[in-house]
Amino acid sequence: MARYGFAIDTVRCVGCNNCSLTCKVENNLPNEVWWSRAMTVGGEEEFTPGVDGAGNLYLDYYTLGCQHCDNPACVKVCPAGATWKDEETGIVRQDYEKCLGCRMCMAACPYTGVRSFNWEEPSYELDFATGDGAVPAHQKHTVEKCTMCYHRVNDG
Ligand code: SF4
Ligand code: SF4
Repeated sequence: MARYGFAIDTVRCVGCNNCSLTCKVENNLPNEVWWSRAMTVGGEEEFTPGVDGAGNLYLDYYTLGCQHCDNPACVKVCPAGATWKDEETGIVRQDYEKCLGCRMCMAACPYTGVRSFNWEEPSYELDFATGDGAVPAHQKHTVEKCTMCYHRVNDG
């Protein structure tokens, strides 16, 4: 099985969130939904510094999204086959049409916040869709997450 992945140099990451914003635009993500986020290490809140053992402040960043795990906990618990690992690419995929909205996958995922649930009909700041037209429409009462831009991978 192939295994696509993202190469991210966390030493060089300055937490600007440009990658997160580009993801949001490409996938026409609804308000409040982020599939990728820049996080800070050690701070009490996002973008607050951590404190080392000597009392010095530091700001370290990393980006967090679905890890497309080798052995995904989310896939094991899904009762509907709505999330699965694509054998050809290694991408953990999600089918909104099959999703029951039970959120078992969110509970099983070891990473906080990489999956999100649309409690309401998705809403948007803009009155037109952004990004790639091949991205499936977001739906109320379904779980969504990073698709590793499967639509682009599919296009080669
Ligand atoms: S949703 Fe969580 S458990 Fe599932 S593949 Fe992504 S990181 Fe792994
Ligand atoms: S919320 Fe959807 S994808 Fe997640 S476990 Fe339930 S049916 Fe599967």
